[in-house]
Amino acid sequence: MIYTKQEFEKIRKASLFSNLPNIITEQKPLSELKNQEIPDHDKSFVGLKSLSHREFNSTEFWRDIPAFKNVTKDEFLDVKFQNKNTVRNLAKLEEFTKGIVDKSFIEDVRQGIKHAPMNLSISPYLLSLIDWANPYEDPLRIQFIPVQSITKENHPKLMLDSLGEQGDSPVDGLVHRYADKVLFLALDVCPVYCRFCTRSYAVGGDTELVNKMKFNNAPEKWKKAFAYIASRPEIEDVVVSGGDAYMLAPNRLKLIGETLLSIPHIRRIRIATKGPAVMPMKILSDANWSNALIDIVKLGREKGKEVALHTHFNSANEITEITRQAMLHLFKNGVIVRNQSVLIKGVNNTLESMVHLIKKLSYMNVQPYYVYQHDMVEGTEDMRTSVKQTIELEKNVRGITAGFNTPLFVMDAPGGGGKRDVHSCEYYDEVTGISIYRSPSVNEQNIYLYFDPIESLPTLGQKLWEDKTIHDELIKNAIKNSGLSSYTPVLS
Ligand SMILES: *Cc1c(COP(=O)(O)O)cnc(C)c1O
Ligand code: SF4
Repeated sequence: MIYTKQEFEKIRKASLFSNLPNIITEQKPLSELKNQEIPDHDKSFVGLKSLSHREFNSTEFWRDIPAFKNVTKDEFLDVKFQNKNTVRNLAKLEEFTKGIVDKSFIEDVRQGIKHAPMNLSISPYLLSLIDWANPYEDPLRIQFIPVQSITKENHPKLMLDSLGEQGDSPVDGLVHRYADKVLFLALDVCPVYCRFCTRSYAVGGDTELVNKMKFNNAPEKWKKAFAYIASRPEIEDVVVSGGDAYMLAPNRLKLIGETLLSIPHIRRIRIATKGPAVMPMKILSDANWSNALIDIVKLGREKGKEVALHTHFNSANEITEITRQAMLHLFKNGVIVRNQSVLIKGVNNTLESMVHLIKKLSYMNVQPYYVYQHDMVEGTEDMRTSVKQTIELEKNVRGITAGFNTPLFVMDAPGGGGKRDVHSCEYYDEVTGISIYRSPSVNEQNIYLYFDPIESLPTLGQKLWEDKTIHDELIKNAIKNSGLSSYTPVLS
């Protein structure tokens, strides 16, 4: 419900401190406040629209999809239904959306798939939340369904493994970049596939565009990674990712948790999954999986170690009453949940959409931890934004809510520099869109470059990149002007 200011004033006056409904006033400790006089304070009310993050869609929204018209709540909330009806190819998408989306859109997707680094995979939950009357601008469509018509030419500096993870892997499926933390890639499948996946070099099945490297998908193969972690006493922190931990069988999730927790120097484990954002009902209807998670959180706590869930909401449109219930279940069972978003054009790059997302997450006790500058992944040029825009967003977001619920805006520096505060660049040229970062904790000698999407640049900048013969010169000039010529530029 969204109220006008007048309506809100009425509600406010009628609430807590004046005519408090009996049911509340008669209960201590609030009843003690009944006769308090409230001083005026000229901090004006921010407007009730800004409280809309407290509203959670509790309708049977899926029934608007013709194929799910007769699907009951019990069925829809069962993760088996979600898995069984996940759309993995164009034919299924066409079948499920018949009558609610134009044929031309389906044709556009058919062409889009040919140039996409990721396979199609959309849960019924997501499919039902897309606004099919306007799919082009829908933040969920943008994330999960490629279309040809708005594909942008890749920036000349885009690459598939833009983070250089393969170069930091001592054993397959383990990235050891920072001294005290590692990234353990336990599997290479996810419940859905995001178009912009930073690990598109490995995650998901092969596409027409990419033949994927495969991670170690089985316990037998994990042993090498576990042994490596056990052999390095400086490692305290393991991120279990992939792929997506939602796809781990409960006994395998437990095996990973128990093994890592039994290594004395491991103090923190994060289980990474996009699951809550794309299929929240699994937490409520797949008790084996959620209990496995809760069990390792408890085991960790007994050992004085933290096990947290790290998830990946990008848009408030992904959040419904089902999500709220799922997050409540985890909260009540002592599971800390943090969120890592990717900043995506058309999804969360306006101040309004970002604030709404942050407040909605906070309201569910999901802590907004990071917002990532979009990686320079091939085939995703339409989704990236400029460094300038990120810095502006960050500035405006700081202060809107509790500091611990205010995300850090970071960039994973291309070429393996690791995470950097976006605003901490040593140099930034808004015309060419080149920014330069140092990352002393990862490498003292290197500098790392990020390139804004060409479309976001002023006309002069766009013109400069049109001329292929001067690209190297643009980069050289940027480094010279930054005063960092004595460092080694990492350009993969
Ligand atoms: C992101 C990441 C981590 C974890 O970093 P935090 O900043 O602690 O969240 C660890 N290893 C790698 C390779 C990463 O990319
Ligand atoms: S869920 Fe994560 S790993 Fe899987 S496709 Fe999306 S971004 Fe990639």
